[in-house]
Amino acid sequence: MAKKILVLEDETSIRSFVVINLRRAGYDPIEAGTGAEAFEQLRQNPDTQIALLDIMLPDTDGFEVCRKIRASDSQIGIIMLSAKAQDVDKITGLMTGADDYITKPFNSVELIARIDALVRRSGASAVVDPGEVSQGPFRLNTRNRTLEKNGERVKLTQVEYSIIKMFMDNPGKALSRDDILATVWGRDYYGEVKIADVNIRRLRLKIEDDPTNPTFITTVWGYGYKWGL
Ligand code: CA
Repeated sequence: MAKKILVLEDETSIRSFVVINLRRAGYDPIEAGTGAEAFEQLRQNPDTQIALLDIMLPDTDGFEVCRKIRASDSQIGIIMLSAKAQDVDKITGLMTGADDYITKPFNSVELIARIDALVRRSGASAVVDPGEVSQGPFRLNTRNRTLEKNGERVKLTQVEYSIIKMFMDNPGKALSRDDILATVWGRDYYGEVKIADVNIRRLRLKIEDDPTNPTFITTVWGYGYKWGL
């Protein structure tokens, strides 16, 4: 289904230009000429992914509209449309809740490129991909069973992978050695609890910045370990 994009612009010639180009690029534009119309459109179209907000409007200004949208929606992407005469420093200072801005006159290629980029970014945070877990510098790919730290592959054994997966599934939670053994080695494992310590020590060598002073996998004395960032 085409992604909905709100176009808030009171100048009809500019709005038509934007709307035509959005349709051509496969988006589903919804239109507003005032702040009040914009809020009404968003109320009727809660699945709107991106809002393009003109700054000078008849009933309010685009920054105020941006603030009000952001107060209730952290996911929507917001791009401010600014006139060339407006001071860029002032705009960027005021657009605290906006993701991007584009200066008029803009061409359709530039506009669509900005929107595409924002759709990709906001889509990445809105849609939880069950195949990937990202935390701090780490990215765990649960399909390939691989781990990256700062974009670099960390070579893990299957056991180490299972341990880090367990940690990333339980951020900030103290896990006992028995919990770790049961999850990673299985409930029917009757070996030494120390095996967990051995593997975790090795895992620390691979993922910690300073393995002698671990910050990602910390020890919970007399109990087990905790994953934190
Ligand atoms: Ca205007």
